[in-house]
Order: sequence, then C-alpha cells, then structure tokens
Amino acid sequence: MKKRRIAILGSTGSIGRQALDVIRQHRDLFEVELLTANNSSRLLVEQAIEFEANNAVICNEDRYKEVSDALRPYFTKVFAGMQSVCDLVSGDGIDMVLTSMVGFSGLRSTVAAVTAGKAIALANKETLVAAGETVMSLAQRHNAPILPVDSEHSAIFQCLRSSPGATIEKIHLTASGGPFRTWTKEEIASATAAQALHHPKWSMGNKITIDSATMMNKGLEIIEARWLFDVDPDRINVVVHPQSVIHSMVEFADGAVMAQLGHPDMREPIQYALGYPERLTLDSRRLDFAGLGAMTFEAPDETRFPALALAREALKKGGNMPCIMNAANEVAVDAFLHGRIGFYGITDLVSRCMAAVDYVSRPDLDCIYLTDREAAAKAREILPEIA
Ligand code: MG
Repeated sequence: MKKRRIAILGSTGSIGRQALDVIRQHRDLFEVELLTANNSSRLLVEQAIEFEANNAVICNEDRYKEVSDALRPYFTKVFAGMQSVCDLVSGDGIDMVLTSMVGFSGLRSTVAAVTAGKAIALANKETLVAAGETVMSLAQRHNAPILPVDSEHSAIFQCLRSSPGATIEKIHLTASGGPFRTWTKEEIASATAAQALHHPKWSMGNKITIDSATMMNKGLEIIEARWLFDVDPDRINVVVHPQSVIHSMVEFADGAVMAQLGHPDMREPIQYALGYPERLTLDSRRLDFAGLGAMTFEAPDETRFPALALAREALKKGGNMPCIMNAANEVAVDAFLHGRIGFYGITDLVSRCMAAVDYVSRPDLDCIYLTDREAAAKAREILPEIA
C-alpha cells in the first residue's frame, strides 16, 4: 500500500484514540497530516508529538494558546476553531479523512472533506442521519468514496464485496441489545446514567453508549444503512444478538446470507476503512468458536425500546425529520447524563420534538443546519416539562 496521509477529526475521542492505535502498529503505512479535538488539549498535544502530526486544530479557541505553547518546540502547526478544521481538511496533503467527532457538529467538516473529494472513513453516523441524501449526492458528484467505520456497516460493506453488483434482498443489522436487554420496563424506567454507561460488549464514547442503551443507536444505524447502501428501509431488519460476534449480515436474492464475524473491537472496522481495499495485520483477540459455544438471536422489543420505532418513523417521513430526531436525541442524552431526566425521558423528548418542530420535505444543507438549531432549542424548551 502506498503511504496514506490521514486526517483524524476528533482524535481524542474513543474512535480517534483507537485509530491512532491502529496507526501506531503501521507507522510505515500512514502519515498523520491533521489531528483535531474539541477540548482535550493535553491529549491533543501528546498525540501531535507522538505521531509527528503536521497540523493540529483545537476547536475551543480558549485553549489555543496552551496547545500552541506546548507544541512550539515541534514542527506541528497549530490552529483553532471549527473553520480551521474545514479549511485544513480540504488541503492537498490529505488522502483520507476519518470523521470521528461526536454528533451533528461533525456535519460541516464532513461536507468540506466530501466536497474536496477526499476519501472518507465515516465514523460520525449523525452526519448521514441528519443529511444522508445531501451528503451521499455530494460524495457522488465529487468522487469521494465513503468507507463505513461503524462496525455493522463495515460488516455489510465487507459482505457486499463478495458479490459485486448483486441486489441486496435484506440487510440484517445486529444489535447487542445493550445493558438493559433483559430488564423489565419498570426496571429500565429507573435506570441511572452509570448503569446505562456500562455497555456489556463494546468500548465506546458516552453519547453512543447511551444511544445503545435506548437502542436509538440501532435506529440511527438503520438510517445510516439506508443512505450508505441505497437500500429500501423495509429491507433493513434489526436482530438482537447479545454475543456481538456477528457484526451484521447481507441476504441476497438466492437466499444466501453473508456475515462478518469477529470479537467486538472497534479497531477492526477502523483499520479496514483506513487500509481499504487491503487487509492489514492487527494484534487483536481472535475468535475461539469452541469456547464461544453458541450464538443466539432474538427480535428487538419495541415496547421496552421505543427509539427503534421513532427512527423508522423519522426515516419514513424523510425530509428534515431524521435531523429533528437526531437533534432532540442529542439534547436528551446530555440531559440524561446530567441526571435531569429519566431514561424514558429521552424517547419522550425525542417524540415530542418530532411532533413540534416544522417539517420540511426537501431540505437543503442550510435548512438542515437551521433545523438542528431549532430542534435543539425546542428540546431545551420542552425539557423542564419532562424532568
Ligand atoms: Mg455500530
């Protein structure tokens, strides 16, 4: 593989750190061109030094001086603010952009990278949830390949490579079921943030771990799959698979089902995207089938986990509805993490915002940015009634 020059947007988060771990194992294959962080200035500095990054951006401008002073003895150039991320990500020196920022805030820089025709390793699913149609058509117009990093979508992408051009009959998105899979509705209703943050299988950031507990994560992933693979939503099936060994499956017209398996380790899909189309070595735990014994499957329970139905409804409505849902969910998850609402307050708030914010059937990007602000404001307004 020719040496690849990588930008990591959100390098201090969970995906960003795991991506750097992958790069640490393949220093001869990757060059770190750009690292960005919102607030974690200390870690950003450490990463820039270790990986000899050419550029670093701290989005919080108040921390610019601290980062800039710390990196003065090194050759990394330091910038501040989101606009710098958008400017640098389009630069000639970058081959591939890993979008691993959290939430809707990743949209602007992802659009900048796509418009510049960069290969995208997409870890920020909210980008496609809020603006899937627009982002995918921009990617097509500017020849920007989008490689999924989400483990389920990476699995689907890998399965599809077995049969180029074949029609997808069904996508089976697997879900671990999260920490409350076996809890009763009453038990779930009184769940705390600490309990929800204890994911049984995957090591991830706070936002996505709460989304996994509500199963909103799987709802967001249905929408992400719809756009990534251009497949009818009715053909996307969710199946709960607590062992999280099968990362997702594709069923073809002849009934054959392809699955991708592995230990739950985010470095695998990250590395697959960064090295695509090659497979690189990874020092990961290997599957032991005899030790595993059995794999089990069950249907998701939409009564205990209403987020799934909300996501299907948002996708069916289309337009700016998934963006409204996503914005309300971001506010709700933050409120839950801070103990301001109960667990089911999250889906209550999302559902109420979906009914209250103006619906637009064919939104352009400006409308999407506006919708995000309006829906977040509406969610904050309704929040006290739910608390
Ligand atoms: Mg996932």
